[in-house]
Amino acid sequence: MQVEDEGAAAPTPQSQGPSRRAVLGAGLAGAAGVSGAAPQDLFLPEEAWRERMTAPDDGKRYGWVVDTRRCFGCHACEVACKAENDVPLGKYIRQTIYHDWTRPSGAVARIMAPVSCQHCEDAPCIKACPCGALHKGAGGTVAVDYDRCSGHAACVEACPYGAIYIDPVANQAVKCHNCTHRVDVGMEPACVATCPSEALAFGDLNDPESRVSKLTAELEAVDGLAVLRPEKQTQPRMRFAVDANHPVEAWEPKLPREGESLAPEAYDVYVWREPGFGERREGGDA
Ligand code: SF4
Repeated sequence: MQVEDEGAAAPTPQSQGPSRRAVLGAGLAGAAGVSGAAPQDLFLPEEAWRERMTAPDDGKRYGWVVDTRRCFGCHACEVACKAENDVPLGKYIRQTIYHDWTRPSGAVARIMAPVSCQHCEDAPCIKACPCGALHKGAGGTVAVDYDRCSGHAACVEACPYGAIYIDPVANQAVKCHNCTHRVDVGMEPACVATCPSEALAFGDLNDPESRVSKLTAELEAVDGLAVLRPEKQTQPRMRFAVDANHPVEAWEPKLPREGESLAPEAYDVYVWREPGFGERREGGDA
């Protein structure tokens, strides 16, 4: 079932919805089969997540436009995100993935695509969360309630985009939260403010004067905008402008899938060295 977030009453994840006992019970029952389960098998009964899927009635509808044609792979967004959110080594809230391809002319090209949580309208992570932690926050932002998250990781299994990791110290789910602490005081998310090529746009899609609304209208009219893995029916709030010769379907297999998280292996493209280089040799130094 698809749930619209506009015009709904403000939820309070801590005070509404089913009892914690009921939710945890259902979640733990599902936990036994987490590994290898199809994502829909992880979903709790609708009454366990319906209210958490409903955003506060704040009149806002936050969304993103990512113009991959402007991205030149500097990773500034990624670094800014890590600094802003204390993301540890080897973990990512956002990542710029690459895909190399050949243009019709024969020239070699590389697409660079900054990705993160898609802030899905119909978010699988919310449907799967047994703790009642994942919910819709301001403007429909998909967020984690850290008073509730127990690091169960059902959300990681359910997310079709690898957008969540479990913090190795806190043992809690971490994902993009639209830099709510900045946006609430009128600032842009750290990644948007840092991107030197203005490849990222974030804002209120309900405001026709916002940069993200204007870009959406402009790019849709000219080149069209694509979403990742539309077959998942998650209705992502992040839309991509791409090279017409290399549509999303061509490069999205580089993205992690359900049960995975954005990971350093995405940068294996940088490993030019011969296999075995740097490995410790028997009886000697590396
Ligand atoms: Fe949840 Fe993943 Fe969708 Fe983000 S992209 S809302 S983490 S399912």
